[in-house]
Amino acid sequence: MGLITPGQVRDLVEAHCRDIPDFPTPGVIFKDITPLLADSYAFGQVIEYLSDFLERVGCELVVGIEARGFIVAAPAAFHTGLGFVPLRKPGKLPGVTLRESYALEYGEAALEMHEDAIRPGTRVVIMDDVLATGGTAAAAADLLERAGAKVIGMSFLIELASLAGRAKLPGRDLECIWTT
Ligand code: AMP
Repeated sequence: MGLITPGQVRDLVEAHCRDIPDFPTPGVIFKDITPLLADSYAFGQVIEYLSDFLERVGCELVVGIEARGFIVAAPAAFHTGLGFVPLRKPGKLPGVTLRESYALEYGEAALEMHEDAIRPGTRVVIMDDVLATGGTAAAAADLLERAGAKVIGMSFLIELASLAGRAKLPGRDLECIWTT
């Protein structure tokens, strides 16, 4: 059996994602991927597809962004025979951490990683569920590069094109399964 095509995997993600208006705040249309996760065929095909991307770009270690990034990054890492590193919200990791703060529409957020999680020069791919304004993904890439990693790609299930997150990630190899 051949690999699923980009069009087929996009259709699966689109068909198994639902819009929840005004969550978590008024005006936001939340892209809920829980129907995708609950469907073993669709979820499995997405993981196969992302694993193919990891192999194609020569990834050595997979990085997931808390929390929904973990849900795709960990199985894709396992399926590809690679390790997994979590980027977490502040105060969650027990060891010595590096932190990257970034601006939100109102206020600030931050991501942390263990300072010894990645050997310098390691080729990493960052994974998350949704690329929205790109602030989270850009902070993740900066944090990893400060730790000495080579960020060779980033993958998302869904890209919200109207928010232009891509503009914050110039020169990055982006794999966005469904751009809407
Ligand atoms: P951003 O930094 O604006 O690109 O936001 C990306 C992060 O927020 C990701 O970790 C997403 O999980 C989450 N996110 C932002 N917008 C949405 C949305 N409309 N639906 C679901 N998740 C979102």
